Amino acid sequence: MKTPRSAQSFLSIPEQRRFRNKLLAWYEAHRRDLPWRLNRDPYRVWLSEIMLQQTRVAAVIEHYQEFLRRFPTVEKLAAAREASVLAAWSGLGYYRRARMLHGAAKVVVRQYEGKFPRTADAWRALPGVGRYTAAAIASIAFEEPVAVVDGNVERVLQRVSGMRLTGEELWQVANELLDGKRPGDFNQAMMELGAVVCAPRAPACLTCPVVELCVTRGEMAPTAKPARQNKREIHYALDRRDGEILLIRRPLEASLMPGMWELPELTSTNGTGSPSFTLRHSITVSDYTVHVWRAAESRAAGKWIPVERLKQVALTGLARKILRKAEML
Ligand code: SF4
Repeated sequence: MKTPRSAQSFLSIPEQRRFRNKLLAWYEAHRRDLPWRLNRDPYRVWLSEIMLQQTRVAAVIEHYQEFLRRFPTVEKLAAAREASVLAAWSGLGYYRRARMLHGAAKVVVRQYEGKFPRTADAWRALPGVGRYTAAAIASIAFEEPVAVVDGNVERVLQRVSGMRLTGEELWQVANELLDGKRPGDFNQAMMELGAVVCAPRAPACLTCPVVELCVTRGEMAPTAKPARQNKREIHYALDRRDGEILLIRRPLEASLMPGMWELPELTSTNGTGSPSFTLRHSITVSDYTVHVWRAAESRAAGKWIPVERLKQVALTGLARKILRKAEML
């Protein structure tokens, strides 16, 4: 059995190359013939990704073609009455998705003159498009080299690496493994592998294209829940000035999330006043109560980043959570 390496390099460079080649060759030969894979038209890709959120592939197949027949272009969708869009969505459930899709179509038509954004960051500005969906559309429709992480990809990465990767680490590892020349196919191949071979129960390792590179080769042993979680309180400064926020970069040699950006941690809070808000955050065996202080004046040695650029910054999971709660993301 192979010994796992660090999260960022559990496969050597030649192994990564082999992984990509084997996975892509398998995908070409075995991929399911799904209606949204007919071409890479961004409207079709977008629609399929929104429909597939929380919905089984078989149910989406039933509704996808009919929706496209009624609204063949983003212009037609934007011009439609909401009641018609909801009617066409009927049977798929989670109608909020349909309203968001409709709202996003209007933005694309009115603000972008009907031209779809080409990057994941730009897609994320549209209603109903989160990190996974943005990366899926940008990579599949425009070949932007951004990895996706969904439940299937998470399972494959954990089993191949033999590590319980979570949160931001998963995205980092997925991006490292991504095939930069064929990111759209690679992302779909990873999701397909998780859906049809590396299934949650009884993975079909004997037919798996990357079995020789996989540490686990089967289901991972369930982790015994730690008898007791460590509890800790931590304090962070949300330091703002003129539309900018102070962030600190983690050391490049840090074992966890090297080079990523976070808020300055406060070692003392002067013992007066109360934090702006508090949230909970769990990492492996630790439960953190995170207090965020606005007027902290930490003045740590960090960098002032314009708030509108935050979406492009590689933030830690906790920093993202805090900035979302502060409505800055
Ligand atoms: S060898 Fe088995 S566990 Fe490993 S990735 Fe393939 S199907 Fe999953």
